[in-house]
Amino acid sequence: MIKTPPALGSPAVSDYTGRVVAPTKSLTARRIVRKQRIRAISELPWTEHVAHGIRILQAPALTKIPWLVHGFSTRPGGVSDLEGKKVLNLGFAEWDTRKLVVENRRLFQSALNADNLALVTLTQSHSDVVQVFDSVPAESCRGDASATIRPGLLLGVQTADCVPILLVDPQKRAVSAVHAGWRGTLQRIVTKAIGKMQMQFGSRPDGLLAAIGPSIGGCCYEVGTEVATAFVSQFPNAADWFDELRTGDEPNPLQWLNGMPPGHQPAPKNVFLDLRKANRALLLDAGLPAQNIFVVDLCTACRRDLLFSYRREGAVSGRLMSVVGIRKV
Ligand SMILES: [Zn+2]
Repeated sequence: MIKTPPALGSPAVSDYTGRVVAPTKSLTARRIVRKQRIRAISELPWTEHVAHGIRILQAPALTKIPWLVHGFSTRPGGVSDLEGKKVLNLGFAEWDTRKLVVENRRLFQSALNADNLALVTLTQSHSDVVQVFDSVPAESCRGDASATIRPGLLLGVQTADCVPILLVDPQKRAVSAVHAGWRGTLQRIVTKAIGKMQMQFGSRPDGLLAAIGPSIGGCCYEVGTEVATAFVSQFPNAADWFDELRTGDEPNPLQWLNGMPPGHQPAPKNVFLDLRKANRALLLDAGLPAQNIFVVDLCTACRRDLLFSYRREGAVSGRLMSVVGIRKV
């Protein structure tokens, strides 16, 4: 059952099948139509799949692939108790019991109609380690991205502010799940996951689809200037990811890098980082066409009603899970 309740704050659109573009005669007109068609797909709002009282965010372009399972979990529903409400906590935490988390995971998989897939999670540590799975490991592996070409596995990454990214190769039928916080982004983990897919599965970056799920937004993700300095030292376009600093009065938005010339205001101690923008840029740099990248504009810190935020809630925050897998035939 696909529903689009209004609570997400985005227009309700279930799919793009209604957007039929009339055939045209001239080559120029056909090009324009093609561009419009691509834009129409890439700018689609995400859909919300609701089942068992659970709300799962999905990228419409990915739901069109029959062999693919994918989804980004949200907070409501589930069996865990947090602040007097039932929540879908999908990560093991001190404030929650193992039994309830296992039940939440079962409900989540069931809502995705993926009960017969085996969930493979990682022991995440903000690293740049990409694990390739052929079967379910006996013990959880350390890493922050996973990849597989094997049907029957459901790759999952857990987040509560960091950026979850799902990669899909429709040609080779391969998938990857990536966890990118600022450390992982700085280490280009999403680029390394793409490299691994290319090496192991023969994936071509220009044929990949990428879905970037809910994470803390540039509106709320305050970081120390040492983080900005680290990014600027690694990426020539890093200044674009610290947009919020540009008040219009500053001649140089990265003025703290240049010290403080006499007579100038002291440089800010903290800045805002847009991690989603950074990872989108990494995907583009890796060779993905813009129209293959789908980003949901939801901030974990702004939307505590819908998501979990470690920044806002600390140790008693739950964990969201983003999953991708290949169905068994
Ligand atoms: Zn925010």
